Amino acid sequence: MAKGYVEINKKACKGCWYCVSVCPKKVLAEGDEANAKGFLTVTKANPDDCIGCGICALMCPDSALTVFKED
Ligand code: SF4
Ligand code: SF4
Repeated sequence: MAKGYVEINKKACKGCWYCVSVCPKKVLAEGDEANAKGFLTVTKANPDDCIGCGICALMCPDSALTVFKED
């Protein structure tokens, strides 16, 4: 299965957790670290399980996620 990597721009995240709920591999999780705007930001619970599907980045309303995929 393809390996993926998701990069989180914590400055742009507002903690809506849409990405957490849509990730099929449970890579992302609700974090407890706040950014400069005071929003809690998403974190990676299982980074090695990312398959690079890109669904999280598509769903993020603030374009805070960038996905890279290795073939
Ligand atoms: S690219 Fe897919 S598997 Fe990886 S974190 Fe995003 S939704 Fe989850
Ligand atoms: S969908 Fe975007 S703004 Fe919402 S928690 Fe995920 S990274 Fe943050």
